[in-house]
This record gives sequence, structure tokens and C-alpha cells, in this order.
Amino acid sequence: MKRAIFPGTFDPLTIGHYSIVIRGLEIFDEIVIGIGTNQSKKTLFSVEKRLDIIHQAFANESRVKIEAYNSLTIDFAKSVDAKFILRGLRSVGDFEYERTIGETNRILTGIETVILFTEAEYGHISSTVARDLITFGKDITSFLPPNVKL
Ligand code: ADP
Repeated sequence: MKRAIFPGTFDPLTIGHYSIVIRGLEIFDEIVIGIGTNQSKKTLFSVEKRLDIIHQAFANESRVKIEAYNSLTIDFAKSVDAKFILRGLRSVGDFEYERTIGETNRILTGIETVILFTEAEYGHISSTVARDLITFGKDITSFLPPNVKL
């Protein structure tokens, strides 16, 4: 069984994240979405709410599992017996970050990072912009996966 983790902050999960996971299911038998909770960065949504949003998005996908974790991403991958880390790439800015972490993770553990380019129509979508819009009372339905209600 080919299992990958899809780690992130998901504050909140967007349609960009959702698309990467759905496309990732063509490559992997199972994807464990891991909500990292050990970062010092403050989040808008609680871990419970972030879990709830992701559960809503993937309610019909039995091959998608969802967990919160509070450790290094490579240790989380090992704990669920995943040999791959799935990530999405939007821009050159994402690339530098992913390259450094992906290479470190591979050297330390042999876990490979598999990167999918974002679909062009979701290239501008980010959790950061979604949070800014929410903070100023705007509707972000178009940023969210189908079937998700905040
Ligand atoms: P992190 O805090 O680790 O960057 P995020 O929740 O921001 O976590 O993102 C998780 C993953 O999803 C990252 O690989 C990120 O590049 C990717 N991602 C975020 N937004 C998009 C998008 N619109 N399209 C494709 N991938 C995306």
C-alpha cells in the first residue's frame, strides 16, 4: 500500500489544498492529511475547527485520513507508516522552501517528497488571503472546497 502524508497548517483548508489531495489519490492508495500543531505561529481556526473543515471536505473519500500532530513532520510520517510526503507548489517562492525541507527530510529518513503543481485556477488561493478576507467580514466560499461550510 502506497501511503503519503499531506502535512500543513490548513488555517483553513482551501480548494487549492483539496485539489492537490484529490489529484494525489491518483498516485497514492491512501493519503493522511496531517494538521501540524506544534508551530509557534498563531492560527485563526482552532485545531478542532480545522479538523472539522477537512472532515467535511473529504466525507466521501475513504482513502483520505485526517490527523493532528505535534511533532516533526518526518516523525509523523513514520508514525503512520508513510514513505512519501505530498506537497503542492504554486510559485517560485514555494519552491525554495520545499526544496530545502524536502532534501533535508530525504537525507534524514529516505522519505521522498512528491510535489504537484497547483492547477492554474487555484494559483492565487492561499490560507493567508482567506484569513484576511474572513477578518474583514468577506465571504470566502470560492476559496473553499465543495461541501464545506465554515
Ligand atoms: P504550510 O504551513 O506547511 O505551508 P499550508 O497549509 O500553507 O501549510 O500548505 C500545505 C501544502 O499545500 C503546501 O505544500 C502548500 O504549498 C500547498 N498549497 C497551499 N495552497 C495551495 C494552492 N492554492 N494550490 C496548491 N497547493 C497549495
